[in-house]
Amino acid sequence: MSYKTSYRCTKCNEVYSTKKELLTCPKCKDLGILDIEYDYEKIKKVMNKDYFKNNQDLSIWRYLPLLPVEEKYTKNTLRVGWTPLYPSNHLKEMFKCKEIYLKDEGLNPTQSLKDRASVIACVKALELNKEVISCSSTGNAASSLAGNAARLGLKTVIFVPKRAPIGKLSQLLAFGSNLIKVNDDYKGAYNLSKAAIDHYNWYNRNAAINPNLVEGKKTVALEIAEQLNFKPTDWVVISVGDGCSIGGVYKGFYDLLKLELIKNIPKIIGVQSEGCSPFYDAFHGNKELEETDENTIADSIAVGIPRNPIKGLEAVKKSNGTYIKVSDKKIMEAMLLLGKNEGIFAEPAAAASLAGFIQAREKNIIKENDTVTVIVTGNGLKDTKNALKVVKEPILLDANLKDLIDYIEERGITNE
Ligand SMILES: *Cc1c(COP(=O)(O)O)cnc(C)c1O
Repeated sequence: MSYKTSYRCTKCNEVYSTKKELLTCPKCKDLGILDIEYDYEKIKKVMNKDYFKNNQDLSIWRYLPLLPVEEKYTKNTLRVGWTPLYPSNHLKEMFKCKEIYLKDEGLNPTQSLKDRASVIACVKALELNKEVISCSSTGNAASSLAGNAARLGLKTVIFVPKRAPIGKLSQLLAFGSNLIKVNDDYKGAYNLSKAAIDHYNWYNRNAAINPNLVEGKKTVALEIAEQLNFKPTDWVVISVGDGCSIGGVYKGFYDLLKLELIKNIPKIIGVQSEGCSPFYDAFHGNKELEETDENTIADSIAVGIPRNPIKGLEAVKKSNGTYIKVSDKKIMEAMLLLGKNEGIFAEPAAAASLAGFIQAREKNIIKENDTVTVIVTGNGLKDTKNALKVVKEPILLDANLKDLIDYIEERGITNE
C-alpha cells in the first residue's frame, strides 16, 4: 500500500485528498504544481535502519513506502536506481576538498537520472489503465520514457525540439516510440505536447506538471543518504533545467529528515548554464522567473521557461544552498576532467554539475573541510558530437612498430 495522504498545491497551499488522482491544482491549474504528502508516522514504523539492512532490492523500489505507487505493477520494470556513489580518486586532491562523491546517474537503464521519473510514470499509467504515455523533452526524458514504457508494453508519443542530439533520438527510436520532431525549441515542443495530451487524454509524463515524477527523482537523494550510512555530505550539487530534479533532491532529504533517519538536509547547489539561467537570475535577483533564451551546449538544461519554478527555487532556499551559473567552456572542461580523472563520461548537462562545484570551491562557497556530492545526471554517449569538439583528434599511424615506438617514446607512455 502507498502511504501518501494528500496533495498540497505549491502555489496556493490548498490540500487535497489523494483518493482522487490529481495532476495539478484544480484552482491554480497549470501553475499549481502539487507536492505529495505522506503519513510519516506510519512509514516510521516500517522504514527504520533494520528495514534497510534486510532489503535485498537494489532498485528504487527499495523505497516503496515513500513512493506514490502500489507494489502491483513494480515487478516487471527495468532496474532503475541504486547507481554507484564513488568517492573521488583524484578530484578531491585537485580541488582541495575533504571528500567529493560522484553519483553516476549515467548507469541507469537508459543512461540518465530521468529513468527514476519515467518508471514511476509508467507504473502510474498502468494503475490508471492508460495505454499511451506522452511527453515533451529535450531528449533524456523522452528516451527514458520510451525505454521504460517499451519494457511494460505501453505506447509512447514523444515530442522533441529540433535540436535534440542524435544519440538521444536514436535511443528512443530504437525503443519503438512514436517520435514527433517539432520544428521549434523546447518551449514549442512542450506546448504542442500539452495540447495533444489534453486532446487525447494520454497519460502525461511532463515532469513538472506531474507530481509523481518528482517523487521518483527524489530516490537519488534517498540513495545518496543510504550509501553514506545516513550521514549525507554537507553539500549536494546538481544541474537544473525545469527544476524537477533539484526539487526531487530536496524532497528525498526532507522525507528522511521527517523519518528522523538524517539530522539535517544538505545544502543544495543548483547549476545552470550562462546561456540559459532563469533560476540563477531569479534566485540572485530575488524575483520571479523570467523567460530566457536557450543558448547552451548543455541541451538537457536548456530550458527557457522552467515548468517547476517553485520547487526549483525552494530546494535551494530551504536548504541554504545557492544557484551558480557556468559557461559552456567550463562545462566542457569539467567533462574532460571527470573523464580523465575518474573514468566517468558525462554529457554536457551532467558535467555542468562538476563545473558548478569547481566554481563554488574557487569562490570558497564550499570550504576545504566540507564534503560534497556531485550528481552526474547523464552519460556522455548521449551527445558525442559535442564531446568530439573538445577532445583531441586521435593520431593516425601506419601499421609498423617503429613509428609506434617513436610516438610512444616521445610521449613517455612507459611503465616506469
Ligand atoms: C533533465 C536533466 C537535468 C535537469 O533536470 P530538471 O528536472 O529539468 O531540472 C540535468 N541533467 C540531465 C542529464 C538531464 O537529463
